[in-house]
Amino acid sequence: MAAAKEIPYKIYLKESEMPETWYNVRADMKNKPAPLLNPGTHEPMKAEELAPVFCEELIAQELDNETRNVPIPQEILDFYKMYRPSPLVRAYCLEEKLGTPAKIYYKFEGNNTSGSHKLNSAIAQAYYAKNQGLKGVTTETGAGQWGTALSMACAYLGLDCKVYMVKVSYEQKPFRREVMRTYGASVTPSPSMETNIGREINARFPGTTGSLGCAISEAVEVAVGTPGYRYVLGSVLNQVLLHQSVIGLEAKAALDKYGIVPDVIIGCAGGGSNLGGLISPFMGEKLRGERDYRIVAVEPASCPSFTRGRFAYDFCDTGKVCPLAKMYTLGSGFIPAPNHAGGLRYHGMSSILSQLYHDGYMEAISVPQTAVFEAAEYFARCEGILPAPESSHAIRAAIDEAVKCRETGKEETILFGLTGTGYFDMVAYEKFHDGKMTDYIPTDEELAKSFEGLPKIG
Ligand SMILES: *Cc1c(COP(=O)(O)O)cnc(C)c1O
Repeated sequence: MAAAKEIPYKIYLKESEMPETWYNVRADMKNKPAPLLNPGTHEPMKAEELAPVFCEELIAQELDNETRNVPIPQEILDFYKMYRPSPLVRAYCLEEKLGTPAKIYYKFEGNNTSGSHKLNSAIAQAYYAKNQGLKGVTTETGAGQWGTALSMACAYLGLDCKVYMVKVSYEQKPFRREVMRTYGASVTPSPSMETNIGREINARFPGTTGSLGCAISEAVEVAVGTPGYRYVLGSVLNQVLLHQSVIGLEAKAALDKYGIVPDVIIGCAGGGSNLGGLISPFMGEKLRGERDYRIVAVEPASCPSFTRGRFAYDFCDTGKVCPLAKMYTLGSGFIPAPNHAGGLRYHGMSSILSQLYHDGYMEAISVPQTAVFEAAEYFARCEGILPAPESSHAIRAAIDEAVKCRETGKEETILFGLTGTGYFDMVAYEKFHDGKMTDYIPTDEELAKSFEGLPKIG
């Protein structure tokens, strides 16, 4: 019989060990993320200007670059306890199969019905909306994970939830849609004929299957035009990274229990919320000069915001109704090829992560789609979990890092974020198995054309 393992397969925290505050990494950043700008005047957005769109408390969190630790309200803590703490898993089987001296850990956020980390922020945003006395919230969803998470949170708190779902996903993922409706949300394919921007886009691009940027514009229009409603967003914003810091705080507490210090931390990056959350306490140590870590963002080669984008102010949505954000962007008119990692198909990136990347605190790589699915399948076959395509970008990078260790003999400790499960992504897996998956990578010309649409600021 093999000897019992010194480090358990899964490190769980006790409920009493869960974090009671979120960590705001901006408090430790010397160069703060650039402020949101009014798209008309190009002046920094004030809280009053944001108030018709967002909930008050969330605006305060969005603009707060100073408060280091933000108490998590008891109601949110109670909800977290229904599905958290999430496990930190030692990937013994993967290590063995790879024959690597590296030690691989992953923080698994797929253990809830919505199937991803997005619930961590959904419950917070729904809570503040409820607390403000609102009737409901509107949002967009691409692949459907965010819409599902928000529907669950709204059902729990008794809030109405209107979801604008990118039309191509609405048609391709009918089961996602039904999950949201089970939790009481209304789901409308976008672009719809219910909003001015939706009608305009349908007229300009007949037969369009929609985009995230377009669905955002619709959701914002409805929030602003409906009394008692506000708009909520599942990624990119500072407040979302704040809520997602619970991932990193738990991961760090679990590692600390066994005196484990990661050398490299890896996460997939769509709008940056899971990566920002996972790395936050580690980044804090790095920013304060206490410890060093390699931090790696992994994005799809078909939507390479960090690795090929510009660091510039840009529109957050196609309809150009949202504030301007300074971020690594491919241009708001960039429509990525129909990659199967729907949650990574956003043209921009969190302003916090963009600033940290710009200042050299983290690295970024991009990986092509078929290599991602190869890694997903390899992982599923040894660790058992069926990973989401988005999460599999991090798996790809972690495997490549562990293989490098096999060659150099370095006993690195690797931590990566496993953001969710892929049960609703079986069409993508089917394409991969049938050899019908393609690797589309935008040309420099395409990107240059898209950059031409960047707003001219200053
Ligand atoms: C939405 C999503 C992502 C990407 O979003 P981030 O804001 O970059 O974290 C990654 N994985 C899963 C499973 C998702 O649902």
